[in-house]
Amino acid sequence: MKIITKDDIKPVCPHCNKELEEIHRKKETLSGTLLQPISIYVCPYCSKVLSITTWYSW
Ligand SMILES: [Zn+2]
Repeated sequence: MKIITKDDIKPVCPHCNKELEEIHRKKETLSGTLLQPISIYVCPYCSKVLSITTWYSW
């Protein structure tokens, strides 16, 4: 399997089908853990969650 990096892809929200020019991110800390915060990525149009990852500060 190979990964191809492409710059001409226009990501589309799977929920509202709008092309995403930007993605909004929310920093969330999980209570009761010492883990690093997580990032919640949401669609700027419908606010539905696109992805959750560990937090990166850049
Ligand atoms: Zn959306």
